Amino acid sequence: MFWFALIIASLWAAETRALSQSVAVKWRHSSLNSLFIVSALPIQVVMMLVCGCVAAWATRHHWGLVYLLPNADHPLIKYGLMFVVLDMLDYVYHVTMHHVAAFWRYHLVHHTDQAVDVSTTVREHPGETFIRNCFLILWVFLCGASVEILMLRQIADTASNLCAHTAIRLPPRAARILGWLFITPNLHHAHHHFEMPTTNKNYGDVFSVWDRLFGTFTDLAREDTVFGLETHMDGAGDARLLALLAGSRARLSTLRRNYFRV
Ligand SMILES: [Zn+2]
Repeated sequence: MFWFALIIASLWAAETRALSQSVAVKWRHSSLNSLFIVSALPIQVVMMLVCGCVAAWATRHHWGLVYLLPNADHPLIKYGLMFVVLDMLDYVYHVTMHHVAAFWRYHLVHHTDQAVDVSTTVREHPGETFIRNCFLILWVFLCGASVEILMLRQIADTASNLCAHTAIRLPPRAARILGWLFITPNLHHAHHHFEMPTTNKNYGDVFSVWDRLFGTFTDLAREDTVFGLETHMDGAGDARLLALLAGSRARLSTLRRNYFRV
């Protein structure tokens, strides 16, 4: 948790300096996004504990698809293959969030940010936090992932998400080379472009290979990228939240009623 906060703070400061952004404006935007942590964190903590218990149970009982493979306990399979498979399943989860209407109404909250930066990483509707962890528990149960790989995935996933959302883009040459394997900020910025079908591209979490394999890869120049969502460009949800933030009676229950109504 400490490292997570430290990395966010460092990237936030780097963005402010590198892009000469107004600290006041950026602070206002980040404060709004940070509010989502309040509702998502308890759900995340409880469900990660459940997920850890499922992983420990699967390992103890040799349960899951991984144990159908020969040498299932070999580190290359247990850690290497499992890491890659869980990343592919994260891709499947993200595609599902975009294409199933009942899930999209929660995921769109993440996409309505019109000034994507490192704070956008935590802009997640609590409903999505619940759904995301349900999917993860299902993947762990089906695959037989261990607690160790679960922890490794969490670290890689968090690092990748923070980097992907940062407002600082990589130089084109570095972005092209790294983008062959990894989701770079440049690639994830395209996913946050307001207009379809670009919003439905670059679903990858750590690796970009799934988008290339399944035909959802795209590249979008900085000057062509406009953050947000075409159906929510009026910023009404954010305006309600900001108004409540400014008021002294901005209680969590009120915030829920006003913003989390989807
Ligand atoms: Zn998305």
